[in-house]
Amino acid sequence: MSWNDIIGQSRAKKYLQRAVSEQRIAHAYLLWGPHGVGKDALAIEFARTLLCQTHNAESCGVCPECRKATMLQHPNLKIIFALPAGEKDTSGGEEKMKTDVQSEVREQMERKALNNYFHFSIPRASVINIGSVREIRRESSMTAFDAGKKIFIISDAELMNEASQNALLKILEEPPADTIFFLTTSRKELLRPTILSRCQSIRCDALLDDEIETGLKEREHIESKQARLIAQLANGDYSRALDLLGEDLIHLRESAVNFLRAVAVGKPVQIFEEIDFFLDSDRKVSEQFLQIMLLWLRDAMLMQEGKERVINVDQSESLVKFVERYKGAELSATLAVVEHALDLLRKNVYLQLIFVSLAIQLQRILLHEKNS
Ligand SMILES: [Zn+2]
Repeated sequence: MSWNDIIGQSRAKKYLQRAVSEQRIAHAYLLWGPHGVGKDALAIEFARTLLCQTHNAESCGVCPECRKATMLQHPNLKIIFALPAGEKDTSGGEEKMKTDVQSEVREQMERKALNNYFHFSIPRASVINIGSVREIRRESSMTAFDAGKKIFIISDAELMNEASQNALLKILEEPPADTIFFLTTSRKELLRPTILSRCQSIRCDALLDDEIETGLKEREHIESKQARLIAQLANGDYSRALDLLGEDLIHLRESAVNFLRAVAVGKPVQIFEEIDFFLDSDRKVSEQFLQIMLLWLRDAMLMQEGKERVINVDQSESLVKFVERYKGAELSATLAVVEHALDLLRKNVYLQLIFVSLAIQLQRILLHEKNS
């Protein structure tokens, strides 16, 4: 990892690089912006640069300090995140943590080390509790024998409850020497203004689809077609893109196209055969299915209008057929119908109902002009 491995975020990157090269480093930084755009990744790279033995503006990546920092096992680099209620509430620290939580934490730390864009989500963890902040105070007050900077990254800092925020504020009011705090958040309005005012604020932007696509190709070695599809579904959020890597999107897309075909020829049995496999599962799959259908229909519409840029490049043949067949259909209306279905899905409307109504409305739109 180096600054070059950070996806996009050139403004935030420049700001932090300049702080290092000019040696004007603040006690506390707030990295804020949408979810999954690399706020933790920026903080970790900053930490690595400061800890590197070369003391350059760029971490060398090979010295022992860099290696420990890369594995997130450097004693002077701590990442704090939400833990299940009760954990670390006592000052007992890690030995008091339940074994299952402990192994989950270890596993997620490893994943974070392998990919700084990985987003922590420990089951049942919704709060950064006071115990974690007390530990920061304890560790930051200890004078290290090996002099050097200490960096604390508080990931999703808005998850600090009131007691934790108060405790952190006390630390920030009298910051210990050589200690740097990074607070990362996608919801800074939940942090106390007094905390915000003690941090250098750095805004991070949503990532562009192209940036995510390139990131997936270069960092995760994903082939073009899939990278492009995922980038469109990720909505500027690289952590979400990583989650989507594990999903069978190509299969879902096939189902979405078959669903549209079945709808158009009006075969109700076939319509439900296509979606049967996920109707009983997680609503998340239904959402992905609808989003993929939306992208596909958008491509069909662009093609109908004679525009070039389509997402499902590998689908051009079946898109051409579809557009040919429903020449007169108002495809923009199909987009609105699918968007409405997505809306209902988020409002927890009964799944079968959503899909029946979607099928009927799509059929009307697709067949209307054709029959007249
Ligand atoms: Zn180094």
